[in-house]
Amino acid sequence: MEAVRFDARARYAPGAQYVAGRLVPGSSGRRQAVIDPATGEDVLTYELASPADVDAAVAAAAAALPGWAGATPGERSDAMHRFAAVLGEQAEDFAYAESLQCGKPIRLSREFDVPGSVDNTAFFAGAARLLDGKAAGEYSGDHTSYVRREPIGVIGSIAPWNYPLQMAAWKVLPAIAAGNTIVLKPSELTPLTSLMFAEAAVAAGIPAGVINIISGAGADAGEHLVSHPGVAMTSFTGSTRVGRQVAALAAGTAKRVHLELGGKAPFLVFDDADLEAAVHGAVAGALINTGQDCTAATRAYIQRPLYDDFVAGVAELMAAVRIGDPFDTATDLGSLISYAQRDRVAGFVDRARSAGATVVTGGRAPDGFKGAYYEPTLITGAAQDSEIVQDEVFGPVLTVLPFDGDDEGLALANDTPYGLAASAWSRDVYRTARAARELRAGCVWINDHIPIISEMPHGGYKASGYGKDMSAYSLEEYTQVKHVMQDVTGEARKSWHRTVFSA
Ligand code: NAD
Repeated sequence: MEAVRFDARARYAPGAQYVAGRLVPGSSGRRQAVIDPATGEDVLTYELASPADVDAAVAAAAAALPGWAGATPGERSDAMHRFAAVLGEQAEDFAYAESLQCGKPIRLSREFDVPGSVDNTAFFAGAARLLDGKAAGEYSGDHTSYVRREPIGVIGSIAPWNYPLQMAAWKVLPAIAAGNTIVLKPSELTPLTSLMFAEAAVAAGIPAGVINIISGAGADAGEHLVSHPGVAMTSFTGSTRVGRQVAALAAGTAKRVHLELGGKAPFLVFDDADLEAAVHGAVAGALINTGQDCTAATRAYIQRPLYDDFVAGVAELMAAVRIGDPFDTATDLGSLISYAQRDRVAGFVDRARSAGATVVTGGRAPDGFKGAYYEPTLITGAAQDSEIVQDEVFGPVLTVLPFDGDDEGLALANDTPYGLAASAWSRDVYRTARAARELRAGCVWINDHIPIISEMPHGGYKASGYGKDMSAYSLEEYTQVKHVMQDVTGEARKSWHRTVFSA
């Protein structure tokens, strides 16, 4: 067991809104609990943000914008390097708070969420100095053309509950590296590490108002942020259903929209694959973060000769996974985010079972746990067009189906509306090259599934959204380019005037 790192009630007694560098209470008159889903206990109850609180946060971000946008890239970079250092010093507090509000194993928080976020911060501290563009030149002959890459303004970002700290990092860092200021709305279920992240930024010397956190509900605070005329861009990570609503709402002010939406990643195993690697990869890829991962392996397609051994191997490995207290370092699988999410996952599995699919292992809440736990679940025999194969379950559930020819496997892998991530497993370079080309997803892993890195883009195809998080590509999202065209002839009568003046 871990020692309690901090008392969320004491720390956020002043309120769970972080505006202009100060914690303040929300003014909606509605209270929201942060629940430890592994125990069902209340960690913090806070006042949700109202639309007026969103207005105050947008005003704070607008006030901070000229100073931050006007800082040199080097100055922004220095502040962000200090930010990375402060995050590193507070790593244990962040890991504790993340596991507390999400029910995720402390090993995952310590070895993935927190170091990933620190590394992201260090990456964007460097990237802040590398805003590249096309070289200036006399493209018309009579002018020097050059490009200015400028921040967009106040960014309004909305994040989900599955990786609250990493999602805050992915939203905030490229935005501020490029000179924007931001109002971030984390999920109302998981505000703790987003607040801590913004507080750490100010402690590191990033000016108050550059990062503001609004802890509010989607329907009022979220919608108000998206439709706000003072917000120049919306960046949303969450479900495809809400993402569509967000894009429609943002159209009212014609603001730029970046959408990172749901996923339903296929896991495609050809008959020459390393079976042991594929079995381990599938279980790890399906169970990471209790399956609440937008890139999780959710649909395994196994070429017929390996199918039976794959199913047996996955069932055996899933049965050995240790479900338990997130703060026990021996725990492999934590709880889901809430009882509602557990019931949603159970509903998917129960309907699949009723439709004739086989639940090989799992398919139930484990005995002896008070929290929102669900057993690792392996399902075979589901129809390709059934709900459990087509829709995002967001729980520790893997479906497995066989295929015969390579064409069929690739077609099945591409056969959902989503396109966030996919993996292909084979020892044949021509097969993997074909899979890399033909899988319709923003990320394709070969002989692995899940790893991400700060230097490379993350983002969807198809109904998984558009735009990129992480990497230099994300700086494109948070900047706009201005073409400056300067006359170099000094002549009163420009050569192109002949199109207007006949004489
Ligand atoms: P969600 O769509 O229910 O909520 C996401 C956020 O949107 C929350 O902060 C919520 O309060 C807010 N929201 C809800 N309704 C809103 C509205 N009408 N207007 C504005 N904001 C609103 O998603 P969730 O259940 O929190 O998270 C799980 C989903 O997130 C999954 O679909 C998962 O795939 C997706 N996700 C995607 C990525 C990615 O990178 N593509 C990463 C993580 C999670």
